[in-house]
Amino acid sequence: MDFGLTDAQQDFVAAIRDFCRRECGTQEQRAELTNSHTEAHNDALYRKMGELGWLGVTIPEEYGGSGGRMLDACLFMEETSRGLAPIGGYATTLIVAGATQRFGTEEQKADVLGGIANGNVEAIAMTEPEAGSDVGSLTTSAERVNGGFVLRGQKVFCSNARIARHILVVCRTTKADDKHHGLSMIWIPTMGGRETAHLYLDGVEAPESAVLGELDQGWTQLMAGLNVERLILAATMLGIGQRAFDDALAYVKERRQFGRPIGSFQALQHRLADLATELHAARLMTHWVASKVDEDPDRMLPREASMVKLFVTETAQKAALEGMQMMGGYGYSSEYDMERLVRQALVSTIYGGTSEIQRNIIAKTLGL
Ligand SMILES: Cc1cc2nc3c(=O)[nH]c(=O)nc-3n(C[C@H](O)[C@H](O)[C@H](O)COP(=O)(O)OP(=O)(O)OC[C@H]3O[C@@H](n4cnc5c(N)ncnc54)[C@H](O)[C@@H]3O)c2cc1C
Repeated sequence: MDFGLTDAQQDFVAAIRDFCRRECGTQEQRAELTNSHTEAHNDALYRKMGELGWLGVTIPEEYGGSGGRMLDACLFMEETSRGLAPIGGYATTLIVAGATQRFGTEEQKADVLGGIANGNVEAIAMTEPEAGSDVGSLTTSAERVNGGFVLRGQKVFCSNARIARHILVVCRTTKADDKHHGLSMIWIPTMGGRETAHLYLDGVEAPESAVLGELDQGWTQLMAGLNVERLILAATMLGIGQRAFDDALAYVKERRQFGRPIGSFQALQHRLADLATELHAARLMTHWVASKVDEDPDRMLPREASMVKLFVTETAQKAALEGMQMMGGYGYSSEYDMERLVRQALVSTIYGGTSEIQRNIIAKTLGL
C-alpha cells in the first residue's frame, strides 16, 4: 500500500497550512475569532473555507461539492485542527453529510449537501440522559400525527445545536422487543443553546419529508455511518495531538533552565521521541482506514474504525498531557494554547463512543 500523498494532496495540505497561518496564525487572531476562546466555531472563517471549495470535499459535484475522497477530508481535518482554525461545527456536519448522502432523497441531498458545501453547519442528536454509551436504549418518541410526526423526549450533549441549520434527531418510531429496531432519523429545526445543548422536545412537529432514509431503520443507518464518524473524530484529534507536539517541541528548544535549553535534557528528549513515533503511527493508521473507506464506502469496518478512534484519541491525549508537563506552569496558563489542547484531547476519548466502548467492539471482533 502506498502511504505517500499525491502532488494534488500535498498542494491541498500546503494551501490549508497557508490559510491557517494567514487567518488564525496568531493568539490575537484566534482570540478575536472565538470571542476570547469562548466559542469553538467562527461562521465567517468557515464560509471562507466554503468559498475555497474545502467544505464540500467529500460531497458529489452535482450537489455543489468537489467529489473528493475521505482521505482528502481527513487531511483537511488534521490540518485545520493543527492550525487551530475555529471550525468546531465541521465534524458533526460531516457526519450528517455522510448519512444524507447514503440515505437522503434527491430533494434532501440538494438542500442539505448543497448547504454544507457553502458553509452550513448540521448537528445530530442521539444521546439522552439515560442513553449514553447504550444509545440503542433511547426513548425520545416520534408519533405519527396528521401525516407528519410529533417528537417528545430529551436529548443531551448535542454539539453545534445552536449554530446548526437542522438537527438530525434519532428517535423511536416503533416500540419493539429488540431495542435496536424501530429507531428513525428525523430532521427538526434548530433551537439555540451553548457549545453542546440540552434539547427538550415537547411536541415538536416534523413533516413526513423530514424523515431521513427508512422509517424504523435508524439503527442500521447509524451503524452504516460509524466507519466514517470514528474516522472523522480520529482525523480531527490527530491534528490536535500534532499541534500539542509542535508547540511542546518549539517550547523546549527555547526555554532555558540550569543554563541550557530544557530540550537538551534526555528525560524530555525521550518523551518527544516517543510522541513523534506514536503520532506517526496514528497518521499512518488514519490514512489506512481512510483509504479502506475510499475503496468501498459501503463496507462496514467495525474493527478498523474502533481501532483508529481508540488509538488516535488516546495518542492525542497523551501528546497534550505530556506537552503540558513539558511546558511546566506555562503549559497550564491560558496565554498558551496547550491547556485548551488538553481539554479538547481529554473529551475526545468520551464522545463518539468512549474508549471503553471501542475496546468492547474490538474485543467482539476477536470473538470475545
Ligand atoms: C463535548 C461532547 C460533545 C458531544 N456531542 C454529541 C453530539 O453531537 N451528539 C450526540 O448524540 N452525543 C454527543 N455527545 C455525547 C457522547 O457521545 C456521550 O457522552 C458518550 O457516548 C458517553 O455517554 P455518557 O456520557 O452517557 O456516559 P456513560 O455511557 O454513562 O458512560 C460512563 C462510563 O461508563 C463506561 N461504560 C459504559 N458502558 C460500558 C460498557 N458496556 N463497558 C465498559 N464501560 C462502559 C463508559 O466508557 C464511561 O467511562 C457529546 C459528548 C460530549 C462530552
